[in-house]
Amino acid sequence: MKPEDWIIVGVAFSTFAVFILAEWLVWRWRGVRKYDAKDSLANYSLVAMQFWLGVAGKALFIVTALDWIQQRGLQLVPETWWAGVILFFGVDLGYYWFHRLSHRVRFLWAIHESHHSSELMNFSVALRQPPLEPWVDWPFFIALAWVGFSAHAILTMYAFNLFLSVFRSHGTDWQTATLGGMVAEHAFASQSASRYEPRIH
Ligand SMILES: [Zn+2]
Repeated sequence: MKPEDWIIVGVAFSTFAVFILAEWLVWRWRGVRKYDAKDSLANYSLVAMQFWLGVAGKALFIVTALDWIQQRGLQLVPETWWAGVILFFGVDLGYYWFHRLSHRVRFLWAIHESHHSSELMNFSVALRQPPLEPWVDWPFFIALAWVGFSAHAILTMYAFNLFLSVFRSHGTDWQTATLGGMVAEHAFASQSASRYEPRIH
């Protein structure tokens, strides 16, 4: 990771921390039990595991494999602002299918299930990220690398997409106000949370 990537990661996690603290205080003030210490500890443990396995997984697969594909691909992407817009929707589409298949394919569901294992719904639960996902998500971005997006650009946009997803799948009134509420993943996430949908019954 480049030094500026660590700054982005630091800003993202600091933002989560502020929202978690604010939400915890609001519910505590209202006398509603929305947070549980053990449940929150599980969330933080999983995001820590995913972060370090993710660094290894992304170095192995996304950076190595996708840059290899990009160098042998069409290399059609110009250095303009609208290429970033295409990348935003391309990454969202790739993540949509990865998430959708994570609820359909048993192997992927075995990895993804921990994300939906909490009985509570709060901001810290959004950090309950499956540790092994960074090892299996990269094939969904092969097409983007093939047309010319670099692995670093895909990875940065993917991190931004996940950052937005924390707010759009959270279940508060705030989610409709976020940009993420407009993109494809939201429609699936809101109707498929916490369940496995086998293709063959
Ligand atoms: Zn899911």
